[in-house]
Amino acid sequence: MSQFKWTYAPFTLKLRRAFTIARGTRREATNVLVRIERDDIVGYGEAAPNKRYDETPQKVMGFLDQLDQEILDDIPNPEVLSNRLAKQNPAIRSARCAVETAYLDWYGKKENRSVFRLMGGRTSLGSISSYTLGMAEPQTITDKLEEAESYPLLKVKLGGSRDRETIKLIRQHSKKPIFVDVNEGWKNLDVAKSQIDFLADKNVILLEQPMPADHNWEELCELKSYSPIPICADEGFVGDESITKIKKAYDCINIKIMKTGSLIKSLELIRQAKREQLKVLIGCMIESSIADSASAMLTLWSDFADIDGRLLIEEDPFEGVTLTDDYHLKLKEIPGIGIRRSDKWENFLD
Ligand SMILES: [Mg+2]
Repeated sequence: MSQFKWTYAPFTLKLRRAFTIARGTRREATNVLVRIERDDIVGYGEAAPNKRYDETPQKVMGFLDQLDQEILDDIPNPEVLSNRLAKQNPAIRSARCAVETAYLDWYGKKENRSVFRLMGGRTSLGSISSYTLGMAEPQTITDKLEEAESYPLLKVKLGGSRDRETIKLIRQHSKKPIFVDVNEGWKNLDVAKSQIDFLADKNVILLEQPMPADHNWEELCELKSYSPIPICADEGFVGDESITKIKKAYDCINIKIMKTGSLIKSLELIRQAKREQLKVLIGCMIESSIADSASAMLTLWSDFADIDGRLLIEEDPFEGVTLTDDYHLKLKEIPGIGIRRSDKWENFLD
């Protein structure tokens, strides 16, 4: 019998607006909440499975059903847990992430320390986070721009048939810097180059995954040399790739804990990237404040942040990371990963 009491269940997050990217439209996301308890201390973790990475809530639940729950009973340090989880079969990354996060949350509470302090963080202030505009009709883009007016940094989803129209419309309203995320939507090199020519003088400071992750490698490298805008790998980087190789085709990597499956591994990847002069963006999925707060800890060491999953959903079951008046991520300085359950969800999983 495990020394921990485990509970886990799927929960559905409805989006405040339909969210469209080059791959399709989502109106909700079903994630999985993991709760562990020992010695009257509770730890929470969240899995946000994404079909792009061949993950579903069912697969996450399958992973958790098959997991030896004694895996948490004798953990000498969190790296050991991360490695043990990576050896599970099948190794569903978002599920591994949920278990590791729950453990770190529990461990931080047991030690009465914030996890970001245990990780070596010296401040609770992370990077400025961008706010994401999905692909939409011009009127909806205009409405969203008004909603996002005070945000200093926008992330704009492109990769559809109205890319230039969208950027022109945004530029009529504001000159603020933007990240562009194409989600693999530009399928050939000539299209990508021509779109980059268009974007080159539009104050786009980062261009995420313009072409498919599995596109011809030489052409991806060529695009990096061609582009005056730094190019960031997202779908093209899940954490197992060689950093030395990836930097030939990209200037930056988007690290998401749901892709790497681990906060601990993500921190190590940030260190590796820095050694190789690669920039780092910390990203998120559609997720609640549990995963957003965990991810936000990593932004203490990153160049850029796009942690806005919790802002896109109607109802957040937890509260945690917030934004300062100038839109820096602000970690909650309380034991664990810095989250509290919202009143309405008080009895969920208890
Ligand atoms: Mg992306």
